[in-house]
Amino acid sequence: MVRAPVTSSLPAPTDTVTRDLNAWIEVALDRLAGNVAAIRGVLGEGREIIAIVKGNAYGHGAVEVARALIEAGVERLAVAYMPEAVALRQAGITAPLLVLEHAFPGDAAAAAELDIAATIHSRDLADAFSAAAVERGTRVGVQIKVDTGLRRFGVLPGEAVSLAEYCRSLPGLRVEGLFTHMANADDEDDSFSEIQHERFRAVAEALSWIPYRHAANSASALRREELRYNGVRVGLALHGLPPPNTPDPGLQPTLSLKARVARVVNVAEGEGVAYGLTWRAPRDSRLALVPVGYADGWRRALGNTGDVLIGGQRCPMRGRVMMDQFLADVSEIEGVREGDEVVLLGEQGELRITADEVAALESTISWEVLAALTGRLPRLYTRGGQVVARA
Ligand SMILES: *Cc1c(COP(=O)(O)O)cnc(C)c1O
Repeated sequence: MVRAPVTSSLPAPTDTVTRDLNAWIEVALDRLAGNVAAIRGVLGEGREIIAIVKGNAYGHGAVEVARALIEAGVERLAVAYMPEAVALRQAGITAPLLVLEHAFPGDAAAAAELDIAATIHSRDLADAFSAAAVERGTRVGVQIKVDTGLRRFGVLPGEAVSLAEYCRSLPGLRVEGLFTHMANADDEDDSFSEIQHERFRAVAEALSWIPYRHAANSASALRREELRYNGVRVGLALHGLPPPNTPDPGLQPTLSLKARVARVVNVAEGEGVAYGLTWRAPRDSRLALVPVGYADGWRRALGNTGDVLIGGQRCPMRGRVMMDQFLADVSEIEGVREGDEVVLLGEQGELRITADEVAALESTISWEVLAALTGRLPRLYTRGGQVVARA
């Protein structure tokens, strides 16, 4: 019998929806709303939350996360590049939307048509965006990013004032914001932020006609009151992970990565498992085949290291992570069967595996662990234990 598509029968209990899935991501939208409230609590009155939903909302799924964030009261959204912004507009997201990084003159038509604010880094780009807006009988919002020391993108303090004045003089542009980005926001010593802030403040004073300023990412928003300005650009904190060296206002991780045991494999003492046979059973062992691999963003670097949760216990990963699967040791757990739940990130019973734990094993940061999760994994969005949307 062919089952009806699951989406037609939502909301539905998570167990029902995931019964026939090898692996999936769950995003708890009620926790997302709780994180917005927790961040709002430290910001104080009159400051906006600019939710950063670049990189598929750090792997959580940009469209559904953006919808839930707007519902939770976030004022603005931002992404890195224009195609990300276009995709949000095409999905029906109408909130104010900013492209933070490099844009091309060829992006001007879409920006004017879809009301997307770009970051302008040159007069040529300003001309193209203005012309596209004039052609459509409109003005398009733009912002100026000041490179105060990250040396990544933006215009130097010495160029920012004249570029902003030039944009102001063009008939198709509305200069709606001025911003910068910190280099050391989550370092133990983030004092370089003070130097960057000084440089930013000088430009902001010279451009007092630009009313909207922003400078803080998650770490700066939570650590440095003086960088909160009119709004803060938060990404990671929305998903419930405080950056390193940052006070936690009570965030809860929203994302879980789960799978179902595909097979239980009995291996004899001395047998090797998975490519390269890099793990050899020190005694007769039972391994669970977990249908998640590096094509899902579960990194090969995790081979023979780290744990997953099965049957309410930590089970060590054995052998290499392959493109589509890896093995975990369930020798110590009675009765593990095909179809049992495996938690790779998230909670099972009393136990929890965080993106920070996995990041440490991969010698990387939690941002990368989340953003690496690929489109092969279905995203399920839950409220109160019920799946309310799927992507
Ligand atoms: C990614 C990014 C952010 C968000 O950073 P988090 O540390 O995830 O909060 C803010 N601003 C800019 C310019 C970014 O590129």
